[in-house]
Amino acid sequence: KPITIAIDGYSSTGKSTLAKDLAVALGLNYIDSGAMYRAVALFALENGLARNGKVSSELIKILDSIDISFHFNPLTKKSDTLLNGVNVEEKIREKAVSDIVSEVAAIPEVRRHLVKLQKNLGKGGGVVMDGRDIGSVVFPNAELKIFMTADEDVRVNRRWAELKSKGYSPSFDEVRENLRHRDHLDSTREDSPLTRTNDAILLDNTNLNQEEQLQLAINWAKK
Ligand code: C5P
Repeated sequence: KPITIAIDGYSSTGKSTLAKDLAVALGLNYIDSGAMYRAVALFALENGLARNGKVSSELIKILDSIDISFHFNPLTKKSDTLLNGVNVEEKIREKAVSDIVSEVAAIPEVRRHLVKLQKNLGKGGGVVMDGRDIGSVVFPNAELKIFMTADEDVRVNRRWAELKSKGYSPSFDEVRENLRHRDHLDSTREDSPLTRTNDAILLDNTNLNQEEQLQLAINWAKK
């Protein structure tokens, strides 16, 4: 039976890097649940439903008109996110989206809608999904659950380098603020906050490289 792997944790702890590596190593599909919240946030921005950091409650009325799908290429390890058929993978990483995504993700109706889609995408197993509530809410019966963490400076550095490589030039403090803001909202929201379930293995990758963390996770998956 194809297994299901749930990877949760704070922002910029390397969840998607590990998830994609694991998917390729074990022949599974990869689904980026955060990209789904980002796609809804982008939809809100593009339709005038988010202004000055405030998201309009009108958004919940049109959730059914938002279709989200994925294409994961195991050769390039690139995951593309399609919003109503359009590839928005680049756009959903922009600052305007990052600034409001946790606001959007705190809306219970949005979560209910996306969790339903996520469960559907994982039907039958054979998937690695990363996010904040995958082991707790989306796939409580996953064969392997990993909860990732790393020191804040390391995380800010990684995120800052990632943004720089994409041509942005945020200050270190701006990046730190965005991470702290999102982690705070994610851990304190009422509806399915970021939680480490009892059966999740803690992976602190502060002092691990990509290959080391992959080998650890492969061994856990094979147990
Ligand atoms: O994973 P990523 O940082 O791209 O996710 C963007 C945001 O989406 C997170 O900061 C969080 O607010 C939200 N999210 C969530 N539940 C998930 C995945 C992401 O609330 N399963």
